[in-house]
Amino acid sequence: MFEGLSNKFSEVFGSLRKKGRITESDIDATCEELRAALLDADVALSVVDNFVARIKTRSLEALPELRQSTQQSQEIYSIINQELVSILGGAARRIKFSKQPPTVIMLAGLQGSGKTTLAGKLARFLKEDGNTPLLVAADLQRPNAVTQLSVLAESINVPIFAPELGNGVGDPIKVSKDAIEFAKQKLYNVVIVDTAGRLGIDSELMQQASKIRDAIAPDETLFVVDSMIGQDAVRTAQAFNDGVGFDAVVLTKLDGDAKGGAALSIADVTGKPILFASTGEKLSDFDYFYPDRMASRILGMGDIQTLAEQAKKALDGESAKRLEEKFVSGEDFTLEDFLEQLQAMKKMGSMTKLLGMLPGANNAAMKKQIDSIDDKELVRTQAIVQSMTPEERRNPKVLNGSRRSRIARGSGRTVTEVNSLVDRFSAAQKVMKQMRGGGGMPQGMALPPGMGLPPAPTKRPDMNQKKKSRSGNPAKRAAEEGR
Ligand code: GDP
Repeated sequence: MFEGLSNKFSEVFGSLRKKGRITESDIDATCEELRAALLDADVALSVVDNFVARIKTRSLEALPELRQSTQQSQEIYSIINQELVSILGGAARRIKFSKQPPTVIMLAGLQGSGKTTLAGKLARFLKEDGNTPLLVAADLQRPNAVTQLSVLAESINVPIFAPELGNGVGDPIKVSKDAIEFAKQKLYNVVIVDTAGRLGIDSELMQQASKIRDAIAPDETLFVVDSMIGQDAVRTAQAFNDGVGFDAVVLTKLDGDAKGGAALSIADVTGKPILFASTGEKLSDFDYFYPDRMASRILGMGDIQTLAEQAKKALDGESAKRLEEKFVSGEDFTLEDFLEQLQAMKKMGSMTKLLGMLPGANNAAMKKQIDSIDDKELVRTQAIVQSMTPEERRNPKVLNGSRRSRIARGSGRTVTEVNSLVDRFSAAQKVMKQMRGGGGMPQGMALPPGMGLPPAPTKRPDMNQKKKSRSGNPAKRAAEEGR
């Protein structure tokens, strides 16, 4: 998403940067180009008009001072960035937790918007943050919605309140009310109510949603909307806001190839913030929505903050600490450590997605490279390492021909692939030794893909420590050690 828009914005800045001195007519031309790009990305007309008008006014106001600046285009860029953050909703918002648990979150939206999936994502997200959520199956309309939610709940080990089978049977208002009582008794601190959607916003949907809302008085009513449906998403949200009302929007399917108009219009049109963004089918493809990070992506500056956060999450904890200690103490980095790293990388999600957060990722050449990355490579490499015995992982030198062919058979890969992995690993190990020895990265040498380093040490090795004796002769060793 936002690829086309991001490319056009880059072009606009490119031509602005080339101008030494920015004039009034340059500002006019820039505004016209921005307007065309936004309309092309399917952003609502009213949003585009206001956005462009604000940029124009602010840039013209800034022009007299701008003339003294050596970085004129940068100043305009900064105005555009601020206005983009503003139409995306300004500051990021967080869930408002009730002072008296349970906090009740009601999910509403059209059928197929990704509501049930989102209930699972949200429950997982909250659980990871130390909460004790309860899922409530109150979508008793859509065939299989109850079963789908039950399967999701089980997969993340979150309790579910699902007294009715659904498929058109049962009273969602009673289920929702009973669920809150149940949560109070069992001391769950958050209740997530998945309600029924319809194919379109109709009076039946609005009536049912209003009744549930009145019965359970949610702390947060979230309207879940599929960003792939473009302007329809905005219209639907507006209709629901007028008819029932909600506190915030959740945008799903932001990983799709729609032009991004919905994401850019919805907060401004409805006056309600976007609370969460969903970026894939996996339960982990979900996070708070950060207007500033989204603006940065649209402007081609990537999303380094999210990338860093994900890396920290995946590498946090015991294994990162152990790897760091190993690195500091000078112990060899083994294939066992490498396996741990691979698993952490897998936790971070798809490589293509991760690299897509780098600045300039939408630029054609870089995009081509990113697209050519095969996410399955990680899985294949992992299979090879997993087919090794612990001893082989610790000491790859023992890997003779017959062991290598056993590993190839075990992992369903070829011997050539096993050889290549072992070679790449040995090369990486050498580089690390050299770096630890203070030699830095050898010239022209890069770590093979997937062979990253453990996190940088926070404490330096003790430089005053005596070098360990290398002598095998006890008498000589004693002399070396000054004994
Ligand atoms: P509901 O009818 O609103 O409950 O919708 P579902 O939760 O069943 O989702 C409809 C479809 O959208 C399912 O196939 C989901 O896997 C898919 N889906 C949900 N969220 C996302 C997302 O963020 N990205 C993508 N690509 N697919 C999603």
